[in-house]
Amino acid sequence: MTAPILRRLADLRANYATWIRAGEVVGVVPTMGALHAGHLSLVEAAKAACDRVIVTIFVNPRQFNSAEDLAKYPRTEQADAAKLAPYGVDVVYVPDPDQIYPEGYATSVSVEGITDVLEGTFRPGHFDGVATVVAKLFLQTGAHKAFFGEKDFQQLMVVRRMARDLDIPIEVIGCPTVREASGLAMSSRNMRLSVDALEKAGQLYPIMTDCAARLTAGEAFEKIEPDARAALDAAGFGEIEYLDLRCADTLAPLQTPTRPARLLAAAWLDGVRLIDNIPVPQLGD
Ligand code: AMP
Repeated sequence: MTAPILRRLADLRANYATWIRAGEVVGVVPTMGALHAGHLSLVEAAKAACDRVIVTIFVNPRQFNSAEDLAKYPRTEQADAAKLAPYGVDVVYVPDPDQIYPEGYATSVSVEGITDVLEGTFRPGHFDGVATVVAKLFLQTGAHKAFFGEKDFQQLMVVRRMARDLDIPIEVIGCPTVREASGLAMSSRNMRLSVDALEKAGQLYPIMTDCAARLTAGEAFEKIEPDARAALDAAGFGEIEYLDLRCADTLAPLQTPTRPARLLAAAWLDGVRLIDNIPVPQLGD
């Protein structure tokens, strides 16, 4: 059954007022559309944990760093609605831009500290855009639970921090990264890769898992990093913006996984910026 597409906040609120009165648990899955199996795994998790599920689709201009990237971002609303149909979601909320940023809009939500590194270094202002739109979507939907992908690990941390700091009564749930058979993390941006580049992109994950295996065997990250960078280079990647081992709770840099850790990477390929991250088990675990 195709879920109704709502574009106005008033219509969304009219729906969920009845759900809240009935004591139902409402889940939200915020997306920018161009849905793939990664997004759909969040929808599945939401359906399993909630009585009602709202999927939001909004390509948020404030979180893009370049007008070109924003213009090139895929917009596939009809196909998205068709992909959602089998999941029985209750509402697809595709807000008109003025429902998020009405004329005179002047407020920004900014999370400090964890936004200073990794994506924050290379995408200034990006997380302000994310935190602002997600805060609005949390407040607009009134959801009890929100589902985000670990694919965007730092974003998940930022969203959790924001909801906690602003006392928004919502539980933020992280879901594992869904990958192609090659190991490539699914992403709406993968659509922009040529067939040749897609094959090269498949090298990122095995190179990262190799790093993780060496870390688990006790090698320090500084020993491993040059090999991983050389491997990415040989695979045909362009600029590697970062390849870092970080504490999974604070994003502080680590040389060895003495605490739960995450290996995170951002690299360019064929004019497309790819990001990925994987957990690295704590030594001694
Ligand atoms: P986006 O539409 O790219 O903003 O992503 C919407 C949500 O889907 C975010 O919470 C992402 O982390 C999540 N997501 C994107 N790609 C994947 C993936 N491959 N596996 C799991 N979740 C994903």
